[in-house]
Amino acid sequence: MRIYLPEVRERAGEALQYRFQGKSSDYLEEGAGDDHDFLLVLSVRSSDDEIIVSGKFEAELEVSCSRCLKPFKQQVASEIGEIFTVSPSPDKKSSPEELALETANQLIVRGDYLYLGEYIRQLFIISQVLNPLCKPDCRGLCPGCGTDLNESACSCENEQGIDLRMLKLKEFKPDK
Ligand SMILES: [Zn+2]
Ligand SMILES: [Zn+2]
Repeated sequence: MRIYLPEVRERAGEALQYRFQGKSSDYLEEGAGDDHDFLLVLSVRSSDDEIIVSGKFEAELEVSCSRCLKPFKQQVASEIGEIFTVSPSPDKKSSPEELALETANQLIVRGDYLYLGEYIRQLFIISQVLNPLCKPDCRGLCPGCGTDLNESACSCENEQGIDLRMLKLKEFKPDK
């Protein structure tokens, strides 16, 4: 995914709208779950030697609940506001992949295209919620037996809070 900059520069100061749709599997590592669509809507403006980009990123991610470990789909969204600096060095031959990396990491644009591939990959990473919950009141797994407490109670629930030394004492039978 890329933006052709001469088109943006031609209308200096005026914002052009871009809409990219894609698949998460192109940007996430294998094993990250099912494939989902993402949407990137950008408003792109040229000003002197800068490319000013704003917009939003929306995606659906396959994540695991941090309490019960159940996989579920989560909608994520990020606001985008970025200024890319145009670097005048046409003599340097770089592959689109190198340019994409440079664009994402240093916010530098070289040549006629703003390559968004690596930038989108990073958007997926920063959009991920740190401790996702399948539902706000997820009860999680019992630390004792691993039962999913959303689905059923377990027998050790009653004895929570009793420490192991107390259990040993209960078993102790004095000699007569
Ligand atoms: Zn959960
Ligand atoms: Zn339990």
